[in-house]
Amino acid sequence: MMFFENAARLGHESVHHFNDPKSGLKAIIAIHSTVLGPAGGGCRMWHYENEAEALTDALRLSRGMTYKNAMAGLPMGGGKAVILADPDNPPTDDLFLAFGRCVESLGGRYVTAEDVGVSVDNLRQGKQVTDIVAGLPPTGGHAGGDPSPWTADGVFLGLQAAAKHRLGSGSLRSLRVAVQGVGKVGYDLCRQLHDAGASLIICDVNQQNVARAQADFGAQAVAPEQIISQDADVLVPCALGAILDEQSIPQIRASIVAGAANNQLATEADGQRLRDRNILYVPDYVINGGGIISAAFEYMGDKSTDDVRAQIALIPERLSEIFASADKQQQPTNIVSDLMAERIVAAGASA
Ligand code: NAD
Repeated sequence: MMFFENAARLGHESVHHFNDPKSGLKAIIAIHSTVLGPAGGGCRMWHYENEAEALTDALRLSRGMTYKNAMAGLPMGGGKAVILADPDNPPTDDLFLAFGRCVESLGGRYVTAEDVGVSVDNLRQGKQVTDIVAGLPPTGGHAGGDPSPWTADGVFLGLQAAAKHRLGSGSLRSLRVAVQGVGKVGYDLCRQLHDAGASLIICDVNQQNVARAQADFGAQAVAPEQIISQDADVLVPCALGAILDEQSIPQIRASIVAGAANNQLATEADGQRLRDRNILYVPDYVINGGGIISAAFEYMGDKSTDDVRAQIALIPERLSEIFASADKQQQPTNIVSDLMAERIVAAGASA
């Protein structure tokens, strides 16, 4: 894949490849934008079929972070690290020390945190050699730690905004909500939905997680392949990306799709497909910004958990703005949201 060709299309500033034979580290750090501040975004460790797949993931995810951070009102650009996992050699602490040195070598242009496959303990290793890390447990009322509960808080507020816009009331009481994936974010969100009086339909490929949500919230469990077509008011993707596509969209019976999962639309055109079916799609990178708000405020160092809460409370306003513009312009919400994010970055560039 040609870097300059891609950069011209997607706008990346730089992409860095790292190889540390001693620890076995092979990593890519993609910096999409530092216009609004250091490029913030987690580190994903994944077994990629090949290097091109890893690079594509890093490019796509880092660009998404620019949009997410801009829409969350953060003084941060977008970046992402991917570590190419070796299925035959589980990662050692040395590997994360080496990764920390890679982050340090970029001199603060990229700030890392957890993503899929990377734990707090992994980051603790990296932290020994760099301070350019977020997502570690906070001390004394400072912002930080596991971002998942904050993500769930933002999604809950966003669901209220979506219900208000589409159903005429921000109350979630008595709504039927179908949640795909009851892991860290999905479970916490189910708790809030249950407390708000919603009735829950859930699925997960992990049976322990299913049993936990059933026991704690009286949720009705369905098979993973049935969740999309449930007779529900809201479909809440909290598991995988690319679940909204040409095949799945015609099966949706909910009038709102809003959840934590990243990159829910398989393609940009799927936003139009949802709009054609009169389904309100809530742009994922806006509604799921709670976690990055917590991580960014942790990194900034002078912020408290109250600051995080206050910033997350702005998510519904941002969403209402998107819904209103989408209605006015007769455009899909994903397109309106992308344009809004691009305008925020452009304003930062000319400031
Ligand atoms: P998690 O791994 O804790 O939970 C995901 C759950 O989805 C797991 O229980 C898993 O078993 C389940 N799952 C996987 N495949 C499934 C399938 N085919 N059908 C049903 N369930 C399936 O992850 P999480 O931290 O809760 O994140 C959930 C989603 O939200 C991910 O897409 C993640 O990228 C996104 N997200 C998370 C955060 C955060 O703060 N954790 C922030 C922003 C976005």
